[in-house]
Amino acid sequence: EPCPPVQARKDRPITAGIAISSANRVIFDKPRLTKAGLADYYAAAAPLMLPELADRPLSLLRLPEGMAGERFFQKHPGKGFPDALRIQAIADSAGETSPHAYATDAAGIVGAVQMGTVEFHIWGARRDRLDRPDRLVFDLDPDEGLGFAATRRAALDLRDRLDGLGLASWAMLSGGKGIHIVVPLRRQAGWDTVRLFSRGVALLAAQSEPKRFTAEMSKARRKGRIFIDWLRNERGATAIAPFSVRARPGAPVACPVSWDELARIRKASAFSTEAALERAWADVVPPDPQGLTARVIKALEHALTRG
Ligand code: ATP
Ligand code: MN
Ligand code: MN
Repeated sequence: EPCPPVQARKDRPITAGIAISSANRVIFDKPRLTKAGLADYYAAAAPLMLPELADRPLSLLRLPEGMAGERFFQKHPGKGFPDALRIQAIADSAGETSPHAYATDAAGIVGAVQMGTVEFHIWGARRDRLDRPDRLVFDLDPDEGLGFAATRRAALDLRDRLDGLGLASWAMLSGGKGIHIVVPLRRQAGWDTVRLFSRGVALLAAQSEPKRFTAEMSKARRKGRIFIDWLRNERGATAIAPFSVRARPGAPVACPVSWDELARIRKASAFSTEAALERAWADVVPPDPQGLTARVIKALEHALTRG
């Protein structure tokens, strides 16, 4: 076999130690972002992403041909992925084991981009303790007609409701239509407790203000309301990772925002890749991990039965 000519490598820039093939392929056309450009973004964003993303099982949204081509979620990486994207065998509830991807460094993230990944979705638990979630997320999904102002108000109300239960939270623009509210958890409660608790919080909001909120997924129930999607808090469920690019027009980024800053933001897709890198975590300080203690659960039960 003859050695490939050196020029062949010109097309394969090395980013975070990963050779990027088809580097000039256009992934987004407006603003124009090539595969190499996307890899560069993720290499720069990796230090911002890893505190939340590292060591979590991932679901990767791949668009190998870019926005114009097909897209698919991949939870079980097959052959051909760079070794930098690591693999862990995880058993599902039926005891069936399958390979899951996770990253521990920039090379792992860029390795996924090399395979056509645009979006990174994360589990609510880390790989060393998959049965003890460390992250509770409320994904606010506004009905089509609702504007961002209503979503923003809902996020602030949910923050206050969580505060009332003794839980501090932080917010992230999804990069799509909504806002995610995250409560860092101590790794004590199991999925059953976390799932029930998050459902209870969503029900509480829907019960107190049925005209504004619903805890049910159905589109019919959502009419003019905000669906508080608590279903992200199940074993194997995922939510978009902070600083992931979204495979949506304009290449918006899922961006953490401070509660103060949120008041001045006009849409959930407000941050481009450049803008996201420039501000980084800004003054968003995720609170320390908190426990779903007996006191917190009592507070929720009390609020629910009060009606
Ligand atoms: P938006 O603000 O527009 O709602 P989003 O990221 O919150 O953006 P959702 O449709 O609410 O989008 O989905 C929430 C999360 O659920 C996603 O980020 C993703 O992790 C997960 N999810 C949704 N649909 C799928 C799917 N078909 N396969 C795998 N995961 C999914
Ligand atoms: Mn959502
Ligand atoms: Mn949702």
